[in-house]
Amino acid sequence: MEEEEIAKTPKQRAKKDVAQGRVIDTYAAQCDKCHKWRVIDSQEEYEDIRSRMLEQPFTCDKKHVPCEGPPDIDYDSSRTWVIDKPGLPKTPKGFKRSLVLRKDYSKMDTYYITPSGKKLRSRNEVASFVKVNPEFQSAPLGDFSFTNPKVMEDTLPLDASLASPAATTTSSRNSSKQLQE
Ligand SMILES: [Zn+2]
Repeated sequence: MEEEEIAKTPKQRAKKDVAQGRVIDTYAAQCDKCHKWRVIDSQEEYEDIRSRMLEQPFTCDKKHVPCEGPPDIDYDSSRTWVIDKPGLPKTPKGFKRSLVLRKDYSKMDTYYITPSGKKLRSRNEVASFVKVNPEFQSAPLGDFSFTNPKVMEDTLPLDASLASPAATTTSSRNSSKQLQE
């Protein structure tokens, strides 16, 4: 049983607002049958796969590609991968779940961005936001997860202190999964 999804982050340019960390730029999921990685087009689709992954393992045919075909992306250190926990709920409508890899690659931080652009960094902040914005009360608190994806050490750039242009990848994988070589 190996199910995974991932997302990866892009090369960071010298943009001011990304100076504090790297964001995800690519999402991927691992086929439960052939173990190849398939790129997932959008965060929404990725979250959908991730939320149901425990009951419905991802397979290539969901992307309408045969298992025999080449992988879309390889798990290697050409980009930094982060692994999301499978089964995490989909982000409530109107909100965006944002993941930022710290500049030193030590960990990822999770936060939610409200429809008005406010950052919520904890479940308490979500609760206070919903309290003063009752129009969002339909969003269950349990659907906000601050479980950070795991940064895969074997995909870190050699010198993590350098502002390396390596991309970052996020993924979800079953905890029983071993690292791929
Ligand atoms: Zn496959």
